[in-house]
Amino acid sequence: MPYCASRFHTIRRPTVEVKVGSVGVGGANPLRLQSMTTSDTQDIAATVRQCIALAEVGCEIVRITAPNVAAAQCLRPIRAQFTAAGFGGVPLVADIHFLPSAAMEAVEHVEKVRVNPRNYADKKKFAAREYTDAEYERELARLHAAFSPLVRRCRELGRALRIGTNHGSLSDRIMNRFGDTPLGMVESALEFVRIAESQGCHDLILSMKASNPKVMIQAYRLLVERLDAAHRPYPLHLGVTEAGDGEDGRIKGAIGIGALLLDGLGDTIRVSLTEDSVYEIPVARAIAEKAMSQWEGPVIEHRIQDGPAAAPMGSPVAALPSPVSGFRFPVSTDSIDPYHFTRRETTTLRWSDRCAVGPDQPPRVIARVAQPDGLAQAAADLAALARQETPAEGLLLPVSGPPALADLRRVLETVDLPVEFLVLELAAEITLADLADFVAASRGRLVLCRRFGAAAAGELAAWAGFVRRHGHFLALDLSPGELPALTDTLRALGDDQLLFTLSGLQPPGAAGGHALGGYRALAEALRRLGLRAPIWIRNTTATAVRADPDFLGRLLEASFLTGGLLCDGLGDLLSIETEADPGRATRLAYNVLQGAGARISKTEFVACPSCGRTLFDLQTTTQRIREKTGHLTGVKIAIMGCIVNGPGEMADADFGYVGGAPGRINLYVGKDCVQYNLPQAEADDRLIALIKEHGRWREPRPAAEA
Ligand code: SF4
Repeated sequence: MPYCASRFHTIRRPTVEVKVGSVGVGGANPLRLQSMTTSDTQDIAATVRQCIALAEVGCEIVRITAPNVAAAQCLRPIRAQFTAAGFGGVPLVADIHFLPSAAMEAVEHVEKVRVNPRNYADKKKFAAREYTDAEYERELARLHAAFSPLVRRCRELGRALRIGTNHGSLSDRIMNRFGDTPLGMVESALEFVRIAESQGCHDLILSMKASNPKVMIQAYRLLVERLDAAHRPYPLHLGVTEAGDGEDGRIKGAIGIGALLLDGLGDTIRVSLTEDSVYEIPVARAIAEKAMSQWEGPVIEHRIQDGPAAAPMGSPVAALPSPVSGFRFPVSTDSIDPYHFTRRETTTLRWSDRCAVGPDQPPRVIARVAQPDGLAQAAADLAALARQETPAEGLLLPVSGPPALADLRRVLETVDLPVEFLVLELAAEITLADLADFVAASRGRLVLCRRFGAAAAGELAAWAGFVRRHGHFLALDLSPGELPALTDTLRALGDDQLLFTLSGLQPPGAAGGHALGGYRALAEALRRLGLRAPIWIRNTTATAVRADPDFLGRLLEASFLTGGLLCDGLGDLLSIETEADPGRATRLAYNVLQGAGARISKTEFVACPSCGRTLFDLQTTTQRIREKTGHLTGVKIAIMGCIVNGPGEMADADFGYVGGAPGRINLYVGKDCVQYNLPQAEADDRLIALIKEHGRWREPRPAAEA
């Protein structure tokens, strides 16, 4: 793949080291954790307090907004007081939007300046207009003149620059040429890279943030493809912007950041949460530790080479290191287009009249119950979730041997399960003969799940024949390393009534490779065999990058694996088996599906993390609006702290609630502001009225029913 050395192993992309003060980013450095203060920058004491609080929990780089020259001037005492408090080694970054004059002031006081290419020298009008080539060149010349002084000053003072592009906030010039696309985001950044390089500045870090993890992943991949083709190994700052709060915010961040880190991309990360920023750091640390535990191969020192920064697409890439020794996947590349989303086409498996897996079906959720005596409680919990329209469609039951099969049969006669199909995970010692009575007594569709090793071709054919005769299904649990030995059998069997899964990489504990790569290898092997059978994503301790015992660890693992695969267009069923409580596992599964945009079961909230520009209490407002509108499946609501940046950054939201002035709210439909300057006390009701006016409202289900 042009954008990474391997999609199956984590081989870190070689980058140059960029020094942010005394903190190195990229090169041989570990992943750096960063966050941002949310106080008014001109409240110096509060901002210093937040800087200290962040540094004390392990934040290695602290960003502060500088919305105007007065705020930028405050960075001097903030830097001084932060240093006096013992944090001189923790660099500060000024976040600049719109005002080059603020950047020119800020660069004097802090170790890095972040500019947003959309608005550094452009005023966004959301105007659709055609630019002639001459007009386009004139725009670039204007940009050059506006940005160069900052670049020169950065060089003189040894400051780093982040060119931080955000989806949904591209200049009219870029929108006109490239649209609001990952390609537009990349081109927007490259315009600034070229200007910086023209001034001899290479201390650059780049980011491509979006609130939609799919867009964000594609944009970073595309950026790396362009940079590496031109031998520009600049480090990357990874983040999903406006991810929101709570479980949803953590999942969205982990899907985007995790997928890229497992591909070996990324040098510093920020997990944006609409919460106090100190809560971002433990999440960022957990993500970083998982990713770094996967790094393979030697660290390669890299240097910038001469030549144009924007080589044409498809140019040969710079030499990348080969994977180190250890377990190898049977394929070295896959055929997924990493820059555009396409869902893998599959056959249809029909479980019941109302539930199937297939091309037009959403990914289906399977809950696991470890012991038959937990079935009654699980049935009650899952029935409640089904009433909330987040049902577990399948129930996975491990069966350790023939006696357990008999026990399970007895229990099942007494419990009414609110699912469409049962999945029996069968121990190797269970034979087809053992299953005869169970299958005969079964009231619904069964999926028999079994591991088949490389020498099990004959057995595999017998089991496939069995399920086909009885109208059931077979889930083949195959490690990609064992697939080559089974290819003739699989090709002869075809797709009918089969699905594929991977409960863990085999042999267990083998060095190298991650389960995301394992599933990619499985999908690629199936493609080469001409098989379109659905793929069931299993989150188990054996598919985890690092099986942490806490809920955050399980959430991150599910986001890395399931989210990463769904963003690649892979996966038709999923189960989160690391979470013992089937109800909680089902809720987590739906949240991951929502985060990846694969199955929408509730309102989507895009909420900015807040910063010194924020005009209202974002956390309480987000929670309040969520309580009132959280039941609107398929509606996307953006809650943004300021008018300066909010409308641009809320991307493709259906409705926007944006701070217009202190205590005043502007409401948006799409990108159009339709109500200005509302008192905040009225704004919630006016938002609901607006949603109703546009036919997107439905009444919440009565509490007793839900
Ligand atoms: S949208 Fe939010 S995070 Fe972005 S600049 Fe405005 S207040 Fe700050």
